[in-house]
Amino acid sequence: MVDRNELEQRIPVITAIARAEEGCWANPGLTAAKPALEKLPLSRADVDDAEDRLLRFAPFFRRMFPETEDWGGLIESPLTPIPAMRDWLNRELQAGITGRLLLKRDSDLAVAGSVKARGGIYEVLKHSEELALAAGLLREGDDYTKVCSTEFHSFFAQHAIHVGSTGNLGLSIGIMSAALGYRVYVHMSADARQWKKDLLREKGVTVMEYAADYSRAVAEGRKLAEQDPSAYFVDDENSVTLFLGYAVAARRLKAQLAEQGIPVDAEHPLFVYIPCGVGGAPGGIGFGLRQEFGDDVFVFFVEPTQAPCMLLGLATGLQEKICVQDVGLSGKTAADGLAVGRPSGFAGRTVRELAAGEFTVRDEALYPYLRALRDTEGLFIEPSACAAFQGPAKIAGMRDFLRENGLTEKMGNAVHIAWATGGRLVPQTERDRYYNIM
Ligand SMILES: *Cc1c(COP(=O)(O)O)cnc(C)c1O
Repeated sequence: MVDRNELEQRIPVITAIARAEEGCWANPGLTAAKPALEKLPLSRADVDDAEDRLLRFAPFFRRMFPETEDWGGLIESPLTPIPAMRDWLNRELQAGITGRLLLKRDSDLAVAGSVKARGGIYEVLKHSEELALAAGLLREGDDYTKVCSTEFHSFFAQHAIHVGSTGNLGLSIGIMSAALGYRVYVHMSADARQWKKDLLREKGVTVMEYAADYSRAVAEGRKLAEQDPSAYFVDDENSVTLFLGYAVAARRLKAQLAEQGIPVDAEHPLFVYIPCGVGGAPGGIGFGLRQEFGDDVFVFFVEPTQAPCMLLGLATGLQEKICVQDVGLSGKTAADGLAVGRPSGFAGRTVRELAAGEFTVRDEALYPYLRALRDTEGLFIEPSACAAFQGPAKIAGMRDFLRENGLTEKMGNAVHIAWATGGRLVPQTERDRYYNIM
């Protein structure tokens, strides 16, 4: 059991977190990228392996999901400058952003319309490849378009996949697994939106609903999967595979920045702001970013004020041993993708020396961001994804952090990227409703 009084005395920031105040936190554990990465059990070779696997499946994607054709069969998203949104942040919120602001539009990713299309789909592919190789259906060097065949479909139909989700991971795993032929079970927490459950059922996915939160939905899924020898459980709280699927994003981002002629180096620091739930997506992407850009990148996570589980895990060092309810928070938030009360211990231990810090955001602040992005840039992203804008809005206020890291004089050259983590599949009626929430 967590002793809240003892924690508040030892780690003063806990008091503000427990009051659900918006804030920023500089990670005192941030370490130079090289030694921090060398300590980890995961390396570049692991990300290479994930990248290679995604390339092997590219011909399959072009055939199965023609929407991936423009990306050569990769599930990838545009990196878009959003100067009008930057002006809005500066004008309306006195953000004081002097560098560039770009949007990484994972909100538009093919197949699942969220960042989960990276990790989630990658994990389904890896599992499928292993099954097919073991069964002798697939051989090294094969053209993977054959995975679209009825033979493979019947083969995968003998296997089940389970996953626990607040919504988007379920969409990604569900859509992908059902397309391959699996029997799929998505265990949805109470936070999941109705339209996401409806969409999955349309695709033939079995959706199990729980009145409880995300941790419970995961536990139930894990339990059921254990009882079925043909079942595979996608473990969002501990999966190295998911994490590596997310990590591939960083090298692709590096290529996009180079294509657009945007320098990132010691004089042109890169700031990346990623909405965080259990920590896998921002952790994996952040891990990849430190590998690619070393000490020139600063990775910030953003969480709702009522569900700052990763912040609690990192600030206390307790990782998955602490949950937001331990400090009196509800874990409830309109940012459904971020409605997680207990962080991934695996993600937390991996990023504790890599993450620059955290921002927390109130639910009410998400809708002005959502409206502003549509009004200024004509782009829609879902409320959870809007959390990313809390970073550029507040970074200039982190004066001590900027000074201590020698960044104050360089902010005019800085590149800020808000990671838009979801949106494409949100129905128009929901989009309009979000737009009108005041
Ligand atoms: C899942 C999700 C995140 C965060 O990913 P985690 O791996 O849970 O930290 C952020 N934004 C959206 C829209 C999501 O669905």
